[in-house]
Amino acid sequence: MEYGTSYFGVRNRDHAARDLDRFADEGLNAVLHTFSERDRMYYEETMADLVADSAERGFRTYVNPWSVGRVFGGEALSEFVGRNPGACQVTNDGERIAAACFNAPEFREYMREWTEAAAGLGADVLFWDEPHWFIPEWFDQSFPDDAWGCRCEHCRAAFEAEYDREMPREETADVRAFKADSLLEFLREMMALAAETGAENAVCLLPSEDAEHGLTDWETLAVCEDLDVIATDPYWDVFEGADSPESFVGYFSEKVVDLADRQDLRSQIWIQGFRLGPGKADEVRTATRTAVEHGVDSVFMWGYDGCASISSIACAEPDRVWRAYLDEVQAARTRDD
Ligand SMILES: [Zn+2]
Repeated sequence: MEYGTSYFGVRNRDHAARDLDRFADEGLNAVLHTFSERDRMYYEETMADLVADSAERGFRTYVNPWSVGRVFGGEALSEFVGRNPGACQVTNDGERIAAACFNAPEFREYMREWTEAAAGLGADVLFWDEPHWFIPEWFDQSFPDDAWGCRCEHCRAAFEAEYDREMPREETADVRAFKADSLLEFLREMMALAAETGAENAVCLLPSEDAEHGLTDWETLAVCEDLDVIATDPYWDVFEGADSPESFVGYFSEKVVDLADRQDLRSQIWIQGFRLGPGKADEVRTATRTAVEHGVDSVFMWGYDGCASISSIACAEPDRVWRAYLDEVQAARTRDD
């Protein structure tokens, strides 16, 4: 069983070593290092050192494209979108937005390079985190209710080639199918590249079963040849429509465990450790226990120390949240032994 946390914000090797030591002391055996556009540009060797230091302590190591192109999850900026406006998504109203398009050739090339660099860090797993199309609510500007993306020149041309008619302005079932297919094709290409280098692939889908947030039919991902870990992050306190941690985490744990069993993959659940208000430690315990009891192969928290170091998403009581997670990990490890 794998117990991990995401790690970010520290690029000083000595400081990171102290954090890794305490994670190991607390019973964790996996760590995800964020690898943003900035990291790739300025910290590549540093990142390779951090990955090596993690492996040396017995951690299974993951790296993710943190907010790269603004189409993956994360609290990082994207230089790519500034440099390549023509490779960014366009809404159905024709508005260019600050997020790359999965179908833009420049972004595909950029991501191939990112994948090679990420694999070159020596991590065990490349973690494709929350790949998604334009989600209006995630932007701090308002859009019409029926806004969707992407309807850029590349998407329109690809849609027309496949459906033999112009891409509609309305988000029809065909448009949704096209978006899902495009996202899958993008992931398949990147995962194949990673697999060639010997790295494993994990894809973490947002806990929504629709085309904006990822995929309606998760099985289409689960059957991909180069996928090794199917993950989701049922953050019960931020997703609209989520109820209690028991039922939200329980539902999605069951889903990834079932897919993993049928497609010979490993399952992974992420526990919310950010943006939690006061008095939420018990919910963290419940969520963690729920995932473990459902038999997932891997559980992770986003992120270490309850995200205390990222003020915009830090928990109100980060120490309690982190402690709650670690206590449940330790209880589970005792049962494992
Ligand atoms: Zn597009």
